[in-house]
Amino acid sequence: MSVRVPDSATVAEAAKFLGSGGLVVLPTETVYGLAADAANEMAVRSIFIAKGRPSDNPVIVHCRDLAHAQAVSGLWPPGALELAKRFWPGPLTLVVPRSNVTAPACSAGLDTVALRVPAHTVFQQVLRASGLALAAPSANVSGRPSPTRAADAAADLGDSILILDGGPCAVGLESSVVGWPDGRPTLLRQGGVPVRDLEAIVGPLANAAPGDRPLAPGMKYRHYAPATPLRVVAAAALRSLWEVERRRSTRTAWLVSTESGLRGPDVTVIASRHDAAGWARRLFAALRDADAGGYDTLVVEAIPEAGLGAAVMERLRKAASS
Ligand code: AMP
Ligand code: MG
Repeated sequence: MSVRVPDSATVAEAAKFLGSGGLVVLPTETVYGLAADAANEMAVRSIFIAKGRPSDNPVIVHCRDLAHAQAVSGLWPPGALELAKRFWPGPLTLVVPRSNVTAPACSAGLDTVALRVPAHTVFQQVLRASGLALAAPSANVSGRPSPTRAADAAADLGDSILILDGGPCAVGLESSVVGWPDGRPTLLRQGGVPVRDLEAIVGPLANAAPGDRPLAPGMKYRHYAPATPLRVVAAAALRSLWEVERRRSTRTAWLVSTESGLRGPDVTVIASRHDAAGWARRLFAALRDADAGGYDTLVVEAIPEAGLGAAVMERLRKAASS
């Protein structure tokens, strides 16, 4: 069995395996990551192969602390240090100039590297036991939702890989990504830190304009789209849709708020519509479960775009547009 309890023996085993160029799945507070030694070109390349990830989509390099992150990168742009001090360890990734310490594959040919200091104890233990910086994109097959439970990573990547089970991820959404593509601090991906909290530190963030040359290479790839058609529906329209669907023979899965009042065997109540963090934490797992349930359609209630609600809705809109 590849899913293991993260005790001192399995942490040491994971560290040793990573040191010899192996891949290990580790829990982070955002989602589970598929980790490799960031200095080992062949190891990082094997991440792309395992995930089926396009080779021009760079990966995030995880460091044990701020000093470690600075030691593996070039000169940081203004504002980066302030963001790191405020949000690390935590769900924020900074795209800064690269150095030769990290393998070229981490950066997919760019002259920048994406860095993060994760908060999860198990990931921190492995970082410290190995002494390495660890490249670690989400531990899913590309195109599937990011795994927020060990079993989700196992379902995607199979039994042959060592997976340390750190329980369900506390944030449940990928990290926010900030870069300085034209010198201005720019939001490259919404994620676990609300935009307003980032802007409180660096001022207004430029938006990476979709359409032309993607500033975060990941922007050009289609994200998770469930096999089952997914609709995002305003709270006010939910009840009437429910009445319509009830009279049909098709099977619909409902992912809704506590306030919706909908209940039943095909209904998953995610959280209060005002608890965006609760939605973030449970959404990917609920989508995976619903997608595996053999439904004809999925209906997800739209939640207010405040705080993490904006990142939740961004993921849902991407999942719905296919
Ligand atoms: P993941 O590792 O799957 O969480 O995705 C990392 C995200 O950060 C993707 O959207 C990447 O395109 C983005 N990213 C990583 N490295 C860079 C970089 N050097 N420049 C711009 N975006 C990056
Ligand atoms: Mg990913």
